[in-house]
Amino acid sequence: MSIAENLATVRRRIAAAAERAGRDPDDVTLVAISKTHPPGAIREALAAGVTDLGENRVGEYLAKRPEVERVAAALDVDLRWHFVGRIQTRKATDLVTGDVLLHGVDRRKLVDRIERLAAGRELHQRVLVQVNVGDDPAKGGCSLAEVDELVAYAAERSHVTVEGLMTIPPLPPPGTDPNEAARPMFASLQAAADRLGLETTSMGMSSDLEAAVAAGATIVRVGTDVFGPRGDGPWQPPVDRSAP
Ligand SMILES: *Cc1c(COP(=O)(O)O)cnc(C)c1O
Repeated sequence: MSIAENLATVRRRIAAAAERAGRDPDDVTLVAISKTHPPGAIREALAAGVTDLGENRVGEYLAKRPEVERVAAALDVDLRWHFVGRIQTRKATDLVTGDVLLHGVDRRKLVDRIERLAAGRELHQRVLVQVNVGDDPAKGGCSLAEVDELVAYAAERSHVTVEGLMTIPPLPPPGTDPNEAARPMFASLQAAADRLGLETTSMGMSSDLEAAVAAGATIVRVGTDVFGPRGDGPWQPPVDRSAP
C-alpha cells in the first residue's frame, strides 16, 4: 500500500468514527508521526494532503526539519510541526522556537524552562500538558490528580500558552482490543480538558484512534498506519562526502 492509500484509509476511519459520535471530521487534526522515516516518505505524505507532522526525538527533528520544509515549500503545503516526545529540560532550548506545538509538557521545572527561553526570545510557546492517565511507569505525564494545578501554573506564565491536554495510554495487554482498553482513559482525559476549559485533546494512535475520536479528540497522532512499519532507529541525514 502506498502512503497515499494508507492516508485515505486513516482518513476514512477518522470520518467514520466522527460520524458515529455525531462529530464533524474536520474538527479532528491528523498529525502524521514521521519518526524514523526519511524525507522522501514525508514528501509522499505531504503530497497526499498531510499538513501536520510530529517527531519524538530532538536530534531527528532538527536534522529533518530544514529538508522537509524545502519539500513542503515546493509542494505549497502550509506545514505545522508537533513535538510529541518527552522533553528533557536541558534540550528544551532547541524546541522553544514558537513554531512547534509541544505535546509533552508534564512538570513545573519544564514549564519554568520554557517560560525563560520564550521570554528571552520574545515569543509565545504553545504547549499541551501531558497526562499519564493510565499511571504507566514507562510513560511521561503528570497524574490526573496533578493536572489542574500544573495547567494553572503554566497558564500563569506569560510566554506559555496551554492549548490542551495529551495522553499516551499504556500498551494494551496481549489479546485485548486496543480501542476498548483505551476508551476509559481517553474519556478521563477529555473530561479533564472539558473541566479546565481547554479545547485541544491529543490522543489516539494507529491502533486506537476510533476510541479517541469517539471520546472527543481534536488531534490524533498516527505513525504506522500512515507510513508503514518504523525503521530501526532515528533517521539520519546522509553523510556529505564532498565536504573537505
Ligand atoms: C510514535 C508515536 C505515535 C504513533 O504511533 P503509531 O502507533 O505508530 O501510530 C503517536 N504518539 C506518540 C507520542 C508517538 O511517540
